Amino acid sequence: MPVVIDPNLCIGCGACAALNPEIFRMDETSGQAAVVGPEAGENAAGAIESCPVQAISVK
Ligand code: SF4
Repeated sequence: MPVVIDPNLCIGCGACAALNPEIFRMDETSGQAAVVGPEAGENAAGAIESCPVQAISVK
């Protein structure tokens, strides 16, 4: 199940990339998180819970 980040919500805190670097990385240009391993959605539960603005979802 693919992981999706809502760019209208992400504040670039870096929590998701710190918790799951195999799924997320920080984009230096946008300052927001980007998904690099969308197929790893089943492992994203911790990051989803840690996101302070609920910007991460699994479709
Ligand atoms: S945890 Fe949420 S707000 Fe923080 S960088 Fe990741 S998606 Fe953005």
